[in-house]
Amino acid sequence: MDKQQKIVIVGAGPVGSLAALYAANRGHKVDIYELRSELRDPSTTPLNFTKSINLALSERGINAMRHAGQPRLVEHVMAATIPMRGRMIHGRRVNGDLYEEPQDYDAHGRCILAIDRGGLNKRLLDILEEMPNVTFHFAHKLTGADFRNNKAWFEVRENGASQARGQRAREIEVDFDFMIGADGAHSAVRYHMMKFTRMDYQQVYIDAMWCEFQIRPKTTAPDTDLMSKFVISPNHLHIWPGKEFMFIAIPSDDGSFTCTLFAPGSLYEYLESDPSGALVPPFFDKYFPGVTSLIPPDELIASFQRNPHLPLISIKCKPHSYGSSAVLVGDAAHAMVPFYGQGMNAGFEDVRILFEILDKHERIDQEKEDVLPSSTRARALAEYTSVRVPDAHAINDLALQNYVEMRASVLSPVYRLRKFLEEALSKYVPSLGWQTKYARVSFGNERYSEVVAKTERQSHLLARALAGLVGAPMLAGGIWLLMRYRRAVDVGLRAAFGSVDHVVELLAM
Ligand code: FAD
Repeated sequence: MDKQQKIVIVGAGPVGSLAALYAANRGHKVDIYELRSELRDPSTTPLNFTKSINLALSERGINAMRHAGQPRLVEHVMAATIPMRGRMIHGRRVNGDLYEEPQDYDAHGRCILAIDRGGLNKRLLDILEEMPNVTFHFAHKLTGADFRNNKAWFEVRENGASQARGQRAREIEVDFDFMIGADGAHSAVRYHMMKFTRMDYQQVYIDAMWCEFQIRPKTTAPDTDLMSKFVISPNHLHIWPGKEFMFIAIPSDDGSFTCTLFAPGSLYEYLESDPSGALVPPFFDKYFPGVTSLIPPDELIASFQRNPHLPLISIKCKPHSYGSSAVLVGDAAHAMVPFYGQGMNAGFEDVRILFEILDKHERIDQEKEDVLPSSTRARALAEYTSVRVPDAHAINDLALQNYVEMRASVLSPVYRLRKFLEEALSKYVPSLGWQTKYARVSFGNERYSEVVAKTERQSHLLARALAGLVGAPMLAGGIWLLMRYRRAVDVGLRAAFGSVDHVVELLAM
């Protein structure tokens, strides 16, 4: 059986690049087709992203890189990260004083890591470029695919030009054994796959837009000491919660912070209603205390006017694969809102799980005669879809729910009490295996759907325990009061119910 297959990867974003590493490491011939002319050129930015977007990389993403078969990869990527140990909540007290309140992500001190999306992508490409069985085809846009006959068509953009600019674009036909669609939220692979399979598809734009701002590094700090360049704590994800909207800041490895305003469309319309931008600084002063001392008002206005105001999309689809010929990974399969910091991490995990399942089926079939690689792959892809779809849907939903947690719940005493109790159980009674939902999602590799099931069980147990804790003394107190004032209560209730004993009988029914 010829084990080397021709694998075409569409999209050289972070997830497509990692998928290419996995495939190349198995000895396949890997061809990567990417719409943009050159990923290292910062002027090329994919749809719905900005150049500077900062991501939180966490365990699932790192674990997938660990299993890529490239010993240098994790080290190479980690060198560009900044650990964030928790959230830093910013606010103003009733007396007008500003405060900062740290909320660690994890009782055991584990951190998530800030990294620049473009920088991470480049580090993956650095390693891919050294692999002899990998070929890049930049400025190639997938325009068509026949998944029954394993053919695809790409528009070749000469010197970055496209038909839209009035230049003739050439089209090429490409054969493949297996196509991996990693072409992001607006995936062309997914679009063409829909013509071959009955795909359920759901796309939602949530009522939130985002726009980027920047907190500059201290100019007085020496270049040799990165940490002294940050004007607020570098080891936190800073949040200014505003209930219906929020402003966040994530550290970058040049001492600056990339900040994002997440807010409903109506708020953007209000701020845009004065073209001079004059409404922006007072809005920040009112709802995000302290920000105008970190970003001067003229810079706030300039960023708001210059940077795009982008939507947030959430996509679910099923299946993620077709026969033996194609699979979707990353945002192409499950674009999600960014509030759990899991979009790319989940995409990386897709790649690890996909190749684990492909390897398993190859091992099962390797001793059998007359089994075509395509039959083995078809079984593997069917299993991949059945395993991965529920998990992709689960993290999509969790990401939507976390928007409320970040912009509002972090201020609630009930949220803080629950976090405190769960972390105490996790730390001091480890035999219970108790963990917060955030820790399970960000610091573990359990299936997302299991995380949801386990945290629902924990919630029920906690609610019952709290009801017991609060309810038992209340019940005891109630009984004591009833006994102590039985005569008075008896007199009072007799008119309505006959006797206290009768009331007790009624309640016991
Ligand atoms: P993309 O990054 O979209 O890459 C797709 C690639 O395919 C692009 O290079 C594109 O040019 C190419 N392409 C598209 N169409 C074609 C075509 N027809 N032919 C050829 N090539 C094509 N995730 C996290 O894990 N942690 C975070 O903290 C986090 N924060 C985020 C914050 C914001 C504001 C946003 C918007 C997203 C955030 N995400 C985060 C999500 C994360 O950015 C995405 O999940 C991740 O970039 C998806 O990677 P991808 O490779 O699947 O797709």
